[in-house]
Amino acid sequence: MNFDELRRRMIAQHLRARGIQDERVLAAFANVPRDLFVPEALQAQAYADHPLPIGSGQMISQPYIVALMTELLELQGHERVLEIGTGSGYQTAMLAQLALEVYSVERLPELAALAAERLQALGYRNAHVRYADGSFGWPEQAPFDGIIVTAAVPKVPEPLIAQLAEGGRLVLPIGTQAAQTLVQARKRHGALQPREVAACVFVPLLGEHGWSETTE
Ligand code: SAH
Repeated sequence: MNFDELRRRMIAQHLRARGIQDERVLAAFANVPRDLFVPEALQAQAYADHPLPIGSGQMISQPYIVALMTELLELQGHERVLEIGTGSGYQTAMLAQLALEVYSVERLPELAALAAERLQALGYRNAHVRYADGSFGWPEQAPFDGIIVTAAVPKVPEPLIAQLAEGGRLVLPIGTQAAQTLVQARKRHGALQPREVAACVFVPLLGEHGWSETTE
């Protein structure tokens, strides 16, 4: 399996051809071996444009959605970014290349540990993974220039609004547990200005400011 060639094709066919334009984002995708972020048995499918199971009932998002959400954060390199829902750590690796510091929160300890291990092995020293209910954000490290939630929410978790810097971008899927709309919201004069971008489907954010864990 020539993963480098598959990765080049993924970038051309699934990202560039579908409208991802930010060259820094496209370059970041070229650097990250997606095959190392999926279970070994699924490595052959790592570069197809669909989500894949990563264990514990969770999914790594399809490459196009990862790219779109990353682009919507509008990163230039000097930012502090918060990610909720580390999962495999693939999105985290993209952010670590494109921002100054990345703080990522994962609710499941086994996924948090595996992602932290992978990110360390690949040398991303500016990626910090924590095991906690990310619906509270990461208040000790706020404010953030960008916040990305890679799990579905019924509405914007209140703590994230407070932890977003003025002018910062919040990117998240809002809707029901079955289907959501990807939203980019900018903070202006202390309030969010939301914009709907695309339809999407994510696993639910389970926690205090997400969905109740008992309705799982
Ligand atoms: N960005 C990931 C995709 C993650 S799937 C990747 O690239 O692989 C969504 C993740 O959100 C799952 O790992 C799930 O366990 C996590 N999650 C759900 N509720 C959460 C919460 N309250 N806080 C932090 N993580 C949560």
